[in-house]
Amino acid sequence: MNTRSNRIQIVSENLSDIKVMALSWKEKNEVVGFIPTMGNLHEGHLSLIRKIRDYGATKTIVSIYVNPKQFGPGEDYAEYPRTPDEDIKLLEKLNVDCVFCPSDEEIYPPNAESQVMIDNLSLMHELCGKYRPGHFDGVLLVVNRLLNIIQPNIAIFGQKDYQQYVLIKNMVQQLFLSTEVLMAPIIRENDGLAMSSRNSYLNSNQRSKALHLYKSLISTSRKIRENKIDYKSILQNEIERLNKIGLSVDYLELRTSNDLSSVKKYKKMNGKYVLLGAIKLGKTRLIDNIIL
Ligand code: AMP
Repeated sequence: MNTRSNRIQIVSENLSDIKVMALSWKEKNEVVGFIPTMGNLHEGHLSLIRKIRDYGATKTIVSIYVNPKQFGPGEDYAEYPRTPDEDIKLLEKLNVDCVFCPSDEEIYPPNAESQVMIDNLSLMHELCGKYRPGHFDGVLLVVNRLLNIIQPNIAIFGQKDYQQYVLIKNMVQQLFLSTEVLMAPIIRENDGLAMSSRNSYLNSNQRSKALHLYKSLISTSRKIRENKIDYKSILQNEIERLNKIGLSVDYLELRTSNDLSSVKKYKKMNGKYVLLGAIKLGKTRLIDNIIL
């Protein structure tokens, strides 16, 4: 059962191993915390493990699965970095209790549902959903499946993927799943770029340009807070500026932080809004956001 690690209680590709393990922990009143990932772990992922323990998890399960259903045609599914051995070493150092590395067959058996039935949510097709059709259907499908297998007490997701967090929270509510869904802050490189497995695709010129996204979020949110002109004009000017310096902007939008609904008029109120951006540098797509 314990295939690749001496220190982790269980590293398994097998769904029923994980199910049995998680259930036995819950029977012993352990608080099971779950952290889904696509692997190629960096400090952002590792911070989620620390955070979920702060929230009370006494057992931690990390899944590593590059989910084909959340990648569209022409996206980077084939190139996505896969580093399971290094990942497991990092998880050992953090004393993670269980690592689940399922195969496609385990997650998507022939009779599995092909869509999560939740109320038609326009948010699925906005922001990243507009530029990655079907992406969030794939995300919800895999997260629903993982939550059903593991039935963790808590699951944690990064603020970096804010829209994903909001949609998962919504799905969990709609389907009455028993897991509490939490969010952890964005971990950044020293210069401010949000950590991401996709940063490794960037050449040095693109890497320095990538920082403009974060800098732009900071300066734009400051301008919006000053509230001198309509926030939509501020965003429009900023999109034009970023496009001119070579970042191809998919979107730069202000939304409400609780459900990502549109904002008619900005009224200064701490934590009420989130400014989200997505850009492309060559073939690499990067996202980031800040709460204001
Ligand atoms: P991924 O492996 O990209 O699917 O990410 C797995 C989890 O890690 C998701 O909940 C992400 O939001 C989270 N995550 C990715 N990058 C970061 C980061 N820089 N800071 C915090 N969480 C992150």
